[in-house]
Amino acid sequence: MMRQNADAPVIIIGAGLAGLRAAEGARRAGYTGALVMIGDEEHPPYDRPPLSKDFITAPAPPDVLLRDPDELRNELNIELRLGQAAEQLDVPGKRVRVGQAWLDYSSIILATGYRSRTFSTNREEQNLYPVRTVTDGMRLRERLASGARHVAILGAGFIGSELASSTRSRGISVTLISTVRKPLSGALGDQVADALVQLHRSNGVDVRLGCSIAEVSESSILLSDGSMVPADVVAYGIGGEPATEWLAGSGIELDGFGVVCDEFLRAAPGVYAAGDIASWPSKLFDQQLRSPHWTAASEQGVNAGHNAVSDAKEPFDTVPYYWSDLYGKRLQFVGVATGDKMMVVRDELPDGGFLALARSGDRISAACGINMRRQIGVARRHIRQQSSWSVAMEDLGVDQNPAVLSRV
Ligand SMILES: Cc1cc2nc3c(=O)[nH]c(=O)nc-3n(C[C@H](O)[C@H](O)[C@H](O)COP(=O)(O)OP(=O)(O)OC[C@H]3O[C@@H](n4cnc5c(N)ncnc54)[C@H](O)[C@@H]3O)c2cc1C
Repeated sequence: MMRQNADAPVIIIGAGLAGLRAAEGARRAGYTGALVMIGDEEHPPYDRPPLSKDFITAPAPPDVLLRDPDELRNELNIELRLGQAAEQLDVPGKRVRVGQAWLDYSSIILATGYRSRTFSTNREEQNLYPVRTVTDGMRLRERLASGARHVAILGAGFIGSELASSTRSRGISVTLISTVRKPLSGALGDQVADALVQLHRSNGVDVRLGCSIAEVSESSILLSDGSMVPADVVAYGIGGEPATEWLAGSGIELDGFGVVCDEFLRAAPGVYAAGDIASWPSKLFDQQLRSPHWTAASEQGVNAGHNAVSDAKEPFDTVPYYWSDLYGKRLQFVGVATGDKMMVVRDELPDGGFLALARSGDRISAACGINMRRQIGVARRHIRQQSSWSVAMEDLGVDQNPAVLSRV
């Protein structure tokens, strides 16, 4: 039987972006009771996007803390417990185990995010640099500053691509290695994938596609196609895994990507989830959706925090959005589509911009642009409003039947 722990605190597991927004959402909803945030890192909530961008190469690393720790304690009145991991959840008993101690909660918000998938080679791991945490970012930053000349980056997704871009900005030679022939094409389509490879190459990056790293030595690496590449540093961004193993056996539904929630971001009675691990049944897109990116983590955190403390629960839905910064250009994606649906309607790269759209029935379902901020904003509005294709195209200033790439 479910316990009623009305006087127990609201507990947030995960001191990241979604966890912080959940605390803010709970306070904004009028909750004045105890709020405990448990985080397994030693740092208060910080921002991850800069870590693969200027954080690793700027003369001084930008401040990534999302809020001053004093503000967290004094303004939001959060009891911060850092360097501690949640290890077990008892849903009917409304309690969570942290170390040896069981903590009662009135409601709990799961916001544990993803962890980097690890890559190992013949050499000890000190030569390898993943980038997910601020500790990772600081380690890579110090290594680059200590006179790295040739950097190899495994993985040409967003994080690997940004690492290539920021490392090149310091004049360091970069080899970008991808096991697939068209990196990011599954999400963005072949044409955008090709344009991004072209962008890397036009910025002096040696891009190696369809191969991996076979062996690492002090100053070079052997690729699986037999070629040797100079490399005194090997960084990687090869995707991640949800930090949900501790929920096994709790009865919370896990689908391999994270926690399956209802439209109120509720995973079980009194249990909410937010951020990279959470999926929700989207009315707008008529499917269970995940958006493991900054904007959704922020929006979901607020919603889960509100719903965890309020009787007037608010359904969650959003038009997924993310951005990436490459060689001084901004790539943005909005909506939901698989890469094979993306049609390029403007291509002015390498110096200008790029716009690709996806259509579903009579509607625009996604847009991807490079240096197309206004158009992405317009597209997001039309996706949210479920406007007809012709209305959206008119507003975007695009031909009604943009089936063919138009190189400007
Ligand atoms: C290098 C990098 C660059 C990025 N750039 C962009 C970008 O340009 N644009 C964009 O849209 N998105 C970007 N993202 C994605 C964005 O940062 C994430 O979507 C966002 O951080 C997710 O927030 P979250 O709170 O769900 O998870 P996280 O920020 O990962 O926070 C979760 C926290 O929970 C902790 N935790 C895990 N398990 C436990 C446990 N059992 N007990 C206690 N604590 C636990 C974790 O250690 C972590 O501190 C980037 C991500 C990375 C890593």
